[in-house]
Amino acid sequence: MRGAACHYAEAIDLYGREQAQELWRFTEANLEGLRREGCESLASYRRVPSMLLALKGGGDDEPWRPSAEYSAANRAGLERSRDLMKEDGLEVGWLEPADQSAPGDSAWRSGMISCALVNPSDASVNSYELMQTLAGKLKTSAHPGLPSPVIENQEVFALERAEHDKVVVRTADFSVRCEKVLVCTNAYVSLLFPAFEEIVLPRRGQMLGLAPQGRRLAASYYCNDGSEYFRQAADGTIVVGGCRTYFAEEEVGFEDRVTARVQDALERFARAMLGYEANEELPITSRWAGTMGFSPDGLPLIGPVALGEGGTDDRSLTRKASLHSTNSPVWFCGGFTGHGMSMGYKAAHAAVDAMLQGSRPPFPLSRLAAS
Ligand SMILES: Cc1cc2nc3c(=O)[nH]c(=O)nc-3n(C[C@H](O)[C@H](O)[C@H](O)COP(=O)(O)OP(=O)(O)OC[C@H]3O[C@@H](n4cnc5c(N)ncnc54)[C@H](O)[C@@H]3O)c2cc1C
Repeated sequence: MRGAACHYAEAIDLYGREQAQELWRFTEANLEGLRREGCESLASYRRVPSMLLALKGGGDDEPWRPSAEYSAANRAGLERSRDLMKEDGLEVGWLEPADQSAPGDSAWRSGMISCALVNPSDASVNSYELMQTLAGKLKTSAHPGLPSPVIENQEVFALERAEHDKVVVRTADFSVRCEKVLVCTNAYVSLLFPAFEEIVLPRRGQMLGLAPQGRRLAASYYCNDGSEYFRQAADGTIVVGGCRTYFAEEEVGFEDRVTARVQDALERFARAMLGYEANEELPITSRWAGTMGFSPDGLPLIGPVALGEGGTDDRSLTRKASLHSTNSPVWFCGGFTGHGMSMGYKAAHAAVDAMLQGSRPPFPLSRLAAS
């Protein structure tokens, strides 16, 4: 999905107009980069627009059902985003339920939608298939006779300084001596670097999958300011996620299990949005959870990280002050705040360029030291 955790007008309020525009362009370029890598030929790739929905206000019987007040504010925010995006030359569409061009899919037939801001050139893909493909390219480009450049299923438990400004990356089975290290453990970074404990926060996201049973979705949908989302995979499976914000105090930490309260809310949301009656059985095929890394301002973080003299176990690392260290050979790239599919590819390229060539990184980690 083009954009960030918030819609365009909110991004302007938070980051300023120029930075919001750059951020939207950055996520467009991220998808372009993935297209150049050939993601369009993956079996799971679908060129479908994404739509940011304002739902109709309907009371407080469900945590995800917006009040009339929230619904009106949500619509006004999306209208403002649409106007600002047009002014800034960003491709954008708009749909109302009565429009001829509104898709007649299951979501629009539910009667729940008040309006939609349309990102026409977005796409969806199975993230696992995409990662396998990208990692596969690295493996096949390996030089004959050299070890594979991709070592899987090895937990890094320490980064240590070595002589001649080198860094040793330690795993259970390997130690690798490096000139530079880019740490991309996202939500889990504080387990290696305690200095990140209050900087990249682990937040749980839960989902469920449904057999299509004749349901069809013409877009990837985001509702309630991105709190809930649902889309259709290439094999017809409908995936539904979110409802985290209503149980925010429980949905923290590294434990990636599903919980009854969030799954129950997701089921009710799926029923409403896909037109299932209360007495109909939902064709649930899977449930899962994952850990996202939230940054303080919702934007990624890229930059060098101070390495304590005692390696990453050194708890004496002071927190914010030691986060940023201009000369460190160890860098971090992460904190994607639930939007790493839209930003991670390009952010990683920018991080490598900054680390190796000294270019200015977008989303510098150093901005936190200044705050
Ligand atoms: C349920 C759910 C739905 C989501 N939906 C979307 C979406 O629709 N669109 C979107 O843009 N984003 C979405 N996201 C967010 C997206 O998945 C992340 O932003 C993205 O995966 C971040 O990529 P990453 O490579 O930085 O981190 P991750 O994908 O989290 O990868 C980090 C990796 O580091 C490994 N690791 C951690 N510690 C160590 C260690 N010490 N040693 C070795 N390896 C380690 C982990 O095992 C993991 O494989 C979703 C996330 C969740 C949980």
